[in-house]
Amino acid sequence: MKTIAIIGGGFAGTTLLRALDGRLPAGYELLLVSDESYTTFNPMLAEALGASIFPEQVVAPIRQMIRGARFVMGRVTGIDVARRTFRCDTLAGEIEQRYEHLVLAFGNRARLDVLPGLAEHGLALKTVGDAMHIRNTVLRRIARIELEADPAMRRRLGHFVVIGGGFSGVETAGELVDCLRGIRRYYPRVRADELKVSVLHEPQRLLPELSERLGRAAHTSLAARGVNVRTGVRARCVGERGVMLDTGEFVPAATVICTIGTRPNALVERMLLPVERGRIVVHPDLRVAGTQGLWAIGDCALVINGYDGKTSSPTAQFAVRQAKCVARNLLAVLAGTPTRAFAYRTRGAMAALGHRKGVAAVLGIPLWGLPAWLLWRAYYLSQMPTFGRKLRIFVEWTWGMFFRNDITHLRFTRSQELDTQPAAETPRRPMATV
Ligand SMILES: Cc1cc2nc3c(=O)[nH]c(=O)nc-3n(C[C@H](O)[C@H](O)[C@H](O)COP(=O)(O)OP(=O)(O)OC[C@H]3O[C@@H](n4cnc5c(N)ncnc54)[C@H](O)[C@@H]3O)c2cc1C
Repeated sequence: MKTIAIIGGGFAGTTLLRALDGRLPAGYELLLVSDESYTTFNPMLAEALGASIFPEQVVAPIRQMIRGARFVMGRVTGIDVARRTFRCDTLAGEIEQRYEHLVLAFGNRARLDVLPGLAEHGLALKTVGDAMHIRNTVLRRIARIELEADPAMRRRLGHFVVIGGGFSGVETAGELVDCLRGIRRYYPRVRADELKVSVLHEPQRLLPELSERLGRAAHTSLAARGVNVRTGVRARCVGERGVMLDTGEFVPAATVICTIGTRPNALVERMLLPVERGRIVVHPDLRVAGTQGLWAIGDCALVINGYDGKTSSPTAQFAVRQAKCVARNLLAVLAGTPTRAFAYRTRGAMAALGHRKGVAAVLGIPLWGLPAWLLWRAYYLSQMPTFGRKLRIFVEWTWGMFFRNDITHLRFTRSQELDTQPAAETPRRPMATV
């Protein structure tokens, strides 16, 4: 059997898997290798961190998407382009796999060295683990304020700063402010004015990817719900006590969430492939330049869109379209017919701002408020893999419209650790009377 292998089970990898599964000619097998057993639906991570939906709802198991293909959970550690093999760390140790064609779809990573101190004191939002961690941090901070006597410390603990006012920044801020408002009733010693969400954004307006009008609409919507939106400000560094701005102003905050900056996957550097701006350079038909049988799609690839000649943006929308294009091209190569260049006319962009508000530009038509929010939900629900997952999200969203956010702080403590694990994860201070 010759192997068509895909590395990465994200938007690009799983779309390709579903497009090729059961359609390869005789003598070929399809293999997907990914370091997680599930695919993460990133656009919903903000809802998971804001406790609007359970974190398990934003992931879908890869094995449930498979019909005849093979899946290996493992991390690819090296690719030998000349020998057409790759190495992979699995539960059973390291394996080496030969391939006839290999599609790189391993995305990129969050980057926390964009500001000094961010890696130590900031929180990234890229994985479902990040979302769960932020959610627990928020719940811990509020529980901690209840026990704190010092007013300045209470304010610092209650201040949540989001760095970046792009799509994930505004979605995170919108979800956070809703979450804080919804759960405060369970913490009677925490006053509303002790909880604050700020967005720090360097450009002069939010959502530079959308029109100025929609950027302003997002600003107004967030500000009306109490988010402190600061545009035209640049964070210089992050510390345990807050964020220092370029102007010398210090913003006290115990929690800093960073939604800017990505870095290439470690594999990109190891493979010695043509790379530009951290992304693998591909031909118009998505083949990696200067190689045989190697293709790249999604966030890890630098793809020029044949429709407008611009670089494809690192979004799920493009990852999915590129996956469909590479599926067609791979089948064409196996059938000995010509491949086609990637060309896609983007349908638009949207962001959910929480509280049943959103902004969207669809086929050039601007929308905001409830219609944009409903459109966001309908679109992402339709994109959710597997019918079961769609149904669960739909039920969860409907539930969330009538009932309050879940404030369970899950800690995964095992029996052996019950008496040894500290109750609080912050360093202990001398006993205080509260
Ligand atoms: C918080 C957030 C919100 C977003 N919101 C939107 C949105 O609203 N709309 C939109 O269009 N886009 C959005 N995006 C961007 C979108 O999620 C990405 O563009 C999309 O996920 C890219 O798909 P991908 O398959 O290339 O990479 P990913 O989806 O990142 O998948 C990469 C996969 O590769 C696996 N992998 C990585 N390294 C290895 C290795 N060495 N071995 C094996 N497997 C490996 C990973 O586990 C992962 O499964 C958002 C992103 C984030 C982080």
